[in-house]
Amino acid sequence: MADYRYLLWDIDGTILDFEKAEKAAIEGLFKKYGFGKCTDEMLGRYSVINRGYWEALERNEISKPEVLVGRFRDFFSEMGLPVEKAEAFNKDYQLALGDTIAFCDNAYEILKRAKGKYILAAVTNGTKTAQVKKLSKSGLDEIFDYVFISEEIGVEKPNAGFFDKVFDDMKIVDKSKALIIGDSLTSDIKGGNNAEIDTCWYNPKGKKADGNVSIKYEIAKLDEIEKILA
Ligand SMILES: [Mg+2]
Repeated sequence: MADYRYLLWDIDGTILDFEKAEKAAIEGLFKKYGFGKCTDEMLGRYSVINRGYWEALERNEISKPEVLVGRFRDFFSEMGLPVEKAEAFNKDYQLALGDTIAFCDNAYEILKRAKGKYILAAVTNGTKTAQVKKLSKSGLDEIFDYVFISEEIGVEKPNAGFFDKVFDDMKIVDKSKALIIGDSLTSDIKGGNNAEIDTCWYNPKGKKADGNVSIKYEIAKLDEIEKILA
């Protein structure tokens, strides 16, 4: 039987519906910058470019600032938009991301029920600006006992160094008591593997697992976590 005490939760795409926030932020900023309408097709293209940049960051090939501005540079260049606006656009985007709060499944209630029974930590690779705003606006800052943002730590998931800081601060000695829950195989599940803790893959879209990661649990709905923990 699983006997976990420390639950490490990814935020974007696991607790909060990142796609919704991203769509609203980009559409709003397209208006503000006079770029016209950002269609779903354009957003889809952005999403592919963006994912490529984040995966390069997870492999430590580029830096965070290169990700944040580079993705918009590439996207604007493809769409024939002014590339020199990418930096300002990203700055506004970080703030705009925190304007739309939508939970994945009933994440808020699940976390509230877990509070007190487990030590709860947020583990995120998002930017400090966006994450701090989102966590306070969503009320999640009152639920999590710890918040770990890679930008503050200086190391991204899935690097073991990120988790070293988590274990240190939370005083986790027995790693078998820790479980990471997240939607990304490359940052959360790989991160859990690197840190030698159990992993739970939140896979609401029924994607195929690829790559060489070891997944202990897989769930399609967040409340399935309660059965795993029971
Ligand atoms: Mg995620």
